[in-house]
Amino acid sequence: MAKAADDEKRPKRLIDRWRRFKQNGSLETLIRIVATDGRAHMRGYALATVLLVVVGMTTAASAWIMRDVVNHIFVSRDPMMLWILSAAVIGIFVVKGLASWAQAIVLGRVGNRIVAETQRRFYDSFLRFGLDFFTERASSELINTVVRGAGAIRSVLDTVIMSLARDLVSLISLVAVMLWQAPLMSLAAFTVAPIAIFFVTGLIKRMRKIAQSEYGASTMIVALVQETVYGNKVVKAFGLDHHMRGRMAETIAAVEQRQNKMASLQARTSPLMETLGGVSIAAVIFYAGWNTINFGTSPGEFMSFVTALLLAYEPAKRLARVQIGLEMSLVGARAMYEILDKPPSGTERDDEPALDFSAGRIELRDVDFAYRKGEPVLKGVSFVVERGERIALVGPSGGGKSTIIALIQRFYDATAGAVLVDGQDVRKVAVSSLRRHIASVSQDVFLFSGTVRDNIRLGRLSATDEEVEEAARDAYAFDFIANLPKGFDTDIGENGVQLSGGQRQRLAIARAILKDAPILLLDEATSALDSESERNIQLALDRLVEGRTSVVIAHRLSTILNADRIVVIDRGEVVDIGTHAELLRRGGLYAMLYRYQFSEEKPLVAAQ
Ligand code: ADP
Repeated sequence: MAKAADDEKRPKRLIDRWRRFKQNGSLETLIRIVATDGRAHMRGYALATVLLVVVGMTTAASAWIMRDVVNHIFVSRDPMMLWILSAAVIGIFVVKGLASWAQAIVLGRVGNRIVAETQRRFYDSFLRFGLDFFTERASSELINTVVRGAGAIRSVLDTVIMSLARDLVSLISLVAVMLWQAPLMSLAAFTVAPIAIFFVTGLIKRMRKIAQSEYGASTMIVALVQETVYGNKVVKAFGLDHHMRGRMAETIAAVEQRQNKMASLQARTSPLMETLGGVSIAAVIFYAGWNTINFGTSPGEFMSFVTALLLAYEPAKRLARVQIGLEMSLVGARAMYEILDKPPSGTERDDEPALDFSAGRIELRDVDFAYRKGEPVLKGVSFVVERGERIALVGPSGGGKSTIIALIQRFYDATAGAVLVDGQDVRKVAVSSLRRHIASVSQDVFLFSGTVRDNIRLGRLSATDEEVEEAARDAYAFDFIANLPKGFDTDIGENGVQLSGGQRQRLAIARAILKDAPILLLDEATSALDSESERNIQLALDRLVEGRTSVVIAHRLSTILNADRIVVIDRGEVVDIGTHAELLRRGGLYAMLYRYQFSEEKPLVAAQ
């Protein structure tokens, strides 16, 4: 209790504010940004700094010159000085204008470069992650981070440079002018600073909390848009428009409310600083005016002082708020670093020696596997797939068939036992060399944005147009592609919405044919297709399997009838292995599955 009360206590001193900034990792993140991206673009930032210092100094010069303007022009009435000083004022402002213009260009360019580099680095880094990373994280989180995190790094650096080079230099030089022109009045004016710091400190802690939750809520918006796009069929079919609208409205309202809160916290510094500024300026006017009226002090110093004070007020205000702005950006930067710092997944290591591929014999040796600790999915799975053999995996859903397919491709690592290809442990070879020898076709075919041709070519990027078309022909996809509005050049959009399930599958088969890998892993579609599609797919698959070592999760009668051997998987264990006839003879799970799952189907292609 005592500790909670302590935590709640507002940090009252500058030192507390600093300590908190350090504690929650903000300082660490800030230092890191400056030391990495800042240092990498040191030349640009150095140039911007020089230009900003010029801006700061010219601001001070414009205050400085006020003394001579008043004393020489208004008090001494010197006509010569009228010309000289007017020209000097023009000069000062022209220099300031040019420096501001140049620094905006320099900072803009460097900032854009940093955003581009960070986005590239971020994307590269998440390509090095394995499947476990992508199942753990919502894509909306990654999207929001790549969009906002990169901008956040840029704005942190902008804020640091602007505050140090422009605002701090302006403030220090203006304070110097004030001290030089009227030391006593300066001391009186500076008493305002601690009061301002005291008020601003309290706002910062609240700001940090709100910025964090605003970031989370904005990720939700991305997630909802994504779900609505991907799940639009479900949304329409179940009439969920209203429900989705409600969820979105709630999330948007939450972001809006938090952003309003942030805006109001940020704005709260304004009336505070205005009032404090007004009071100190009035006090100075009163004191200096009193001296001039009653004791005839020359007004030049006073004018110079007041100008400096007025000009100091803006940079001082910005500096008082700088930490609030930084906190907002650091939330995004931290989210980005969290991902950049994650070590690449073990399954994606590519620095091992390449697979020495000869026959393409696959062996699972006593494989145990669990996605989560304590929840075994595979237990002591062992079987061998000889060169050129067709193996069908059969078993109740959830038994672990897809997991076996994933382990052969090293999407995950076995927790015990080993997966071997040609006698080599898949964990001991470069993953790219392993996957190069494997083609896989899964149930849910993902089509990328681009044309039909582009999508097939993903099987082998170096394939010529003729080879792509040949693969399409072998996959029994040529005719339907030729009938599309622009044939192979038809754009299918990121989800290939205009294609039927059967057509999408044939595109995936064409991809696999084009890859021409000696090992084939296949998850047959369970979804019912019209008999024309079914027949074409069957023919395409037969062509694909021909001459390759294949492991197929079987959902079709013809597949099990054509398989050399069938591996029956139940609850993570191999319960039987044999040919269709052997297994049927033995009775057991296979015979039962066959009766319920397969026997009602008519084989489309006669069993051998
Ligand atoms: P099958 O292909 O035989 O239907 P799976 O290999 O897909 O079986 O699934 C086996 C078990 O592993 C199931 O209990 C399933 O819930 C679980 N599982 C599958 N994928 C994941 C995953 N990415 N994370 C956690 N559990 C998973």
